[in-house]
Amino acid sequence: MSKLPHVGTSIFTVMSKMAAEYNAINLSQGFPNFRVDERLTDNLARLAKENVHQYLPMSGYTPLLTKITALVLKSYNRIILPETEILVTAGATQAIFTTITALINIDDEVIILDPSFDCYEAPVLLCRAKPVRINLNNDYTPNWERIEKAFSPKTKMIIVNNPHNPAGKTLTEADFEALETLLQKYPDVILLSDEVYEYITFEQSHISAHSREKLTNRAVVISSFGKSFHITGWKVGYLVAPVHLMNEVKKVHQFMVFSVNSIAQVAISEYLDVVAVDELGTFYQEKRDYFRTLLQNSRFELLPCEGTYFQVASYASISAENDVDFCKRLIVEHGVAAIPLSSFYGDAKDEKRIRFCFAKDNKTLEDAAKRLCGV
Ligand code: GLN
Repeated sequence: MSKLPHVGTSIFTVMSKMAAEYNAINLSQGFPNFRVDERLTDNLARLAKENVHQYLPMSGYTPLLTKITALVLKSYNRIILPETEILVTAGATQAIFTTITALINIDDEVIILDPSFDCYEAPVLLCRAKPVRINLNNDYTPNWERIEKAFSPKTKMIIVNNPHNPAGKTLTEADFEALETLLQKYPDVILLSDEVYEYITFEQSHISAHSREKLTNRAVVISSFGKSFHITGWKVGYLVAPVHLMNEVKKVHQFMVFSVNSIAQVAISEYLDVVAVDELGTFYQEKRDYFRTLLQNSRFELLPCEGTYFQVASYASISAENDVDFCKRLIVEHGVAAIPLSSFYGDAKDEKRIRFCFAKDNKTLEDAAKRLCGV
């Protein structure tokens, strides 16, 4: 019998495959198409000839752990211990999977805020625990009253994604205060804070769980070098957790991955000496603004985008089709691939909204926008 009877192939795989079949411009799955910084790829090429090809320590390459400590200190003024509070992972998806598998027991309840990224629910189900999926408001702000009502004595974890994929929203100071007040009432609940787009925010600066004293002792915070350095295919990320949670997470990690790709870790570690992560927000803000300008004469209505490299658009004034059919037709008839937002909801809520990835070179954005303006 299937352990995940209701889970099919991820929408990102489905749409990317269809985009390739129809030779469409792929703005569906989130990944950049521009060249990676040569300082990083040069590291990789040089290191290939050095002695960096064997297992590294289970938690990660020691100098990399030290540099992550420095990065978290610089970005969020939080002091973490490199040996005990950081785990380098094979991407954020593995970090999420491992955290849930290690910390969630049978019949526990896990609060997931919809629309939600598709890799949250499956590990909860595999633990034979219960995903409790609560919709965000129509503008993708959290409704803390509704969220609080969903808490029960069985609640073991809440997953928060900030900046938010697919909505492109960021949490505010007031949101964090509401979350902290709520969690004070539930001292055993763990916060899984997925912050893979932490360096991609625009007008508002990112508020991280790292910078919240009331949360750090119960938070597992997830970061992604794939997102921050335009290397999604390298599959390297990390998580930070207090020791009592980390000890459990490592028990699973050692048998699932053992240790992450050595050469990638060393190359990233050296790159951290020279890269300025704080330039990423400006870089993507220009992309966002350019893409929005290109689409201003289209019939799509563009929702606000405060962070991430995703733009949500409503096609309600173009078609009454459901969003999956609309996305398929967009590929077949107009040659542009997007992601239907209903795939981020437990109840497949169709609001006639789709997601475009704007992490693309300007030529790709121009070509895509030309086609979208004809829809
Ligand atoms: N994070 C990427 C997105 O949101 C997809 C990653 C994946 O395909 N699992 O599009």
